[in-house]
Parts: sequence; structure tokens; C-alpha cells
Amino acid sequence: MKGFPDKPSYIIELLEGGVTLEDVIDGHICEQDQVEKSAFVVGDLGALMRQHACWQGLVPQLQPYYPVKCNSSPVVIEVLASLGLGFVCSNKAEVSLVLDHGVPPENIILSSAFKQLAHIKYAAKNRIQHLVCENEAELSKIARLHPDAKLLLQLTTEAHAAETSMPFGFSLKSCRHLLEMAKELGVQVVGAAFHIPSSCQDLQQAYNHALSDARCVFDMGLALGFNMNILDIGGGFTGSEFQLKQVESAVRPLLDAYFPQRSGVQVLAQPGCFYVASAFTLAVCVIGKEVVTHCWETLSQAEKNEDTEFLYYMNEGVYGSFSHKLLGSSITIPSAHKHALCAGEAVYPSSLWGPSLDQLDQVVERCLLPELIVGDWLLFSNMGTCGLEEFSCASISSQLPVYYTVFTSDWYEMQEAGVALDNAMKNFSMIQYSA
Ligand SMILES: *Cc1c(COP(=O)(O)O)cnc(C)c1O
Repeated sequence: MKGFPDKPSYIIELLEGGVTLEDVIDGHICEQDQVEKSAFVVGDLGALMRQHACWQGLVPQLQPYYPVKCNSSPVVIEVLASLGLGFVCSNKAEVSLVLDHGVPPENIILSSAFKQLAHIKYAAKNRIQHLVCENEAELSKIARLHPDAKLLLQLTTEAHAAETSMPFGFSLKSCRHLLEMAKELGVQVVGAAFHIPSSCQDLQQAYNHALSDARCVFDMGLALGFNMNILDIGGGFTGSEFQLKQVESAVRPLLDAYFPQRSGVQVLAQPGCFYVASAFTLAVCVIGKEVVTHCWETLSQAEKNEDTEFLYYMNEGVYGSFSHKLLGSSITIPSAHKHALCAGEAVYPSSLWGPSLDQLDQVVERCLLPELIVGDWLLFSNMGTCGLEEFSCASISSQLPVYYTVFTSDWYEMQEAGVALDNAMKNFSMIQYSA
């Protein structure tokens, strides 16, 4: 057999009949209870397709380009590639992964603020023409190593700069100079890109600025003789249908005004979280517990509950699966496995910590949970960007078992949409779930 003998294999369990995701999670918790009680992740691949349907239903005019950095699990890449998405890669490894899944080079964008020379060469060799570029130094590297590149100039936005406290992109002021330099160097510029993160408070204002700036870049580019035809409006889609509608209503009138369909400009977006967040659930085990009580004789039972606080230590923290917490992402409040069943159970203020005993390793500052004991499990939904697979080779999380599942009903629809997951070459195999 060709390829790497130790290439990991991916088993996808097909869920038939009344089997639910909770059943699958219960099953793995039982297994883990007999062994190491390791944290694990369960993926529901049908969620990727449902998010795609939601995207196409609400914003059919925005072509989705998935940023691989959000979750580079080969199973996710395979599904999204089969659904026809484009991909945004930030390095050579991501480009190579996406090419391996049969994505045509014209559907790949190489996007990172500072590109290693080898990665630019690799893009040139593999005929990946679309590169994002944001300053003169990058431009001269690209002109030298990849003269056939088609550049998208990355515009800065206040919202992006505020989130990262880094001045990403170029300002409108430096735009003419960058375009003139591209002209001199003989590199094609084909459009503009910007990114407004989901943390942005005033979406309307942010898109007003970004789209009118982008229009200016297009006008300057056209005046210099460039064929400006791609606009990339970046990411910032949380995954909720409600928020997608909000972005849509902020963006659509601006697109109609600045980039109407008859202008022939292809409009792309980079939904990352949107596609993957809801598809993965993380199960972690409670490995330690501390109780803090402030007991006053005169308090009623209810008030006493308020005054008892629990600190729980879990076997995953910000140096593992919750690393995105360090980047400012909020963590969904978990549910306690097998506790939801008894309604009316008392709940207590609780804080959740990773295993490192480091002050930074607080995963949830305060939430209300029933009293747990060491060995209980907590379930965190919306963990699709928790750094699965290659994305975070260095972190502990890459060693977590990931169990992929798909419901039969979703699977039929996915097959109709062209998804095939029983590919021996890629070490994917589908099996029936059995409890
Ligand atoms: C991370 C990132 C994205 C994806 O953002 P989401 O909020 O996950 O959709 C898009 N564009 C850029 C420039 C990014 O850095």
C-alpha cells in the first residue's frame, strides 16, 4: 500500500433508528470509566451539512471559503470539500492537507500576514494563485517567488485591530502606494479582503467602513488597470442563524450599493466557527473538587445554597482543549452528564478549572451546577474550534480521542450532496453504531 503506514485512521459511526448523540456520549463515558477517564470529543458530521444548508439559504451570494485553522480534522476537510467549499490556508501544511482532499488550486487562498518563503514557493509550485498580501515586504517576496500570483490586498479594520491589538492589514492611506508598487513589480492585484471578528460591537458601522474602504481600493486598482473582481469579507460568523441574519442585513445593502451583482465581482466570506463549532461536543471528567462555604446560622436553606461555592478541576484546561479561551473566546456553560434528569435538583455557584493549578487555567468563572463528585462528567457543546488534529500538534488536545458520528438521515442527504466518507485511501471507514 502506498502512503504512510502509520497514517491515522478515522472511523465514522453511522447512527440508525432512535440512537441519539447522548447515547453515543453515554457509551463512551462508560468505556472511559473503565479505563483512564480521558476527556474525549464527539463529532456530529451532519451538523456541517446543516450549517451549509443554513448558509446557502440565507447568504447564497456569499461564497464560503473555510479557514482551515479553525479545525483541520481531515474528516471535516473531506466533508466541506465535497460540499464544494473553498479553503483559506495559512501555511504549507494546510495547503497540502486541502490539496490531498482533492480541492482544486483555484479554490484555495493562501492567507497569512507574514508568509515563509518556502510556503510562497510551495503555492507557486502547486498553482495556488490567490494570495492575501498586506504590505510592501510581502509584496516584494511574492513578486520574486510567485510572479503569477493574484493578490487580494488585506485592508485593516478597526474591529480586527481592536480584537487582536495588532495592526492587521494596510490602511487606505497606504493603498495607492501598494497598488503602484504591485504595478511596477508586475504582480496582478485582483481584489481586497478584510475581517471583522464576531466580538465586534457595532457590526453595521464596521461593515460600513470596511465596504466603503474596499470600494476605494477597487476604484484605485481599476484606475491602475488591474482587473479587480474578488472581494473577501472575512469571518466573524458565530454559527447561529440569528447572527448570520444580522450580518446579512448589515452587509447586503452595502454590497448592493458598492458591489452590485452586475459589477461581476465575486464576493467571498470565511466562515470558520460557523461551520464547525456546533458539530463537536467535548466530554471532560471532574478530577478534583474544593468547597468554599460561608455559613451563617440565620440563613434559610436556599440562601445557604447561594453561599456554598464549588471549585471543580477538570482533566482539560486552557493548555489543552480550551486554548481558544486564552484568545478571548467565550466558553459555553457545560451541562452535567446524567444530572439533567432529576429536575428540581439544587444548583450551586461553581467555577471550573483545568488541571494545571495555574491562575490562567480557569475555564468557566462562574456557573450554576448541581453538586458534582470527582469522577463525574461535564459536557461542553460548541467545541468545534477546540483545536482538533494537526491544528494543535503541540497541545495535549491532539491526543484526545475523537469519535465521529453521522445520523443515517443526514448521511443520505450528504451522499446526495456528493459526500463520500468510506474512502480507504484516506483511511476513512464507516461502521454501524452498536451500543
Ligand atoms: C480566524 C479568521 C477567520 C475565521 O473567523 P471565524 O470567526 O471563525 O469565522 C476569518 N478570517 C481571518 C482573517 C481569520 O483570522
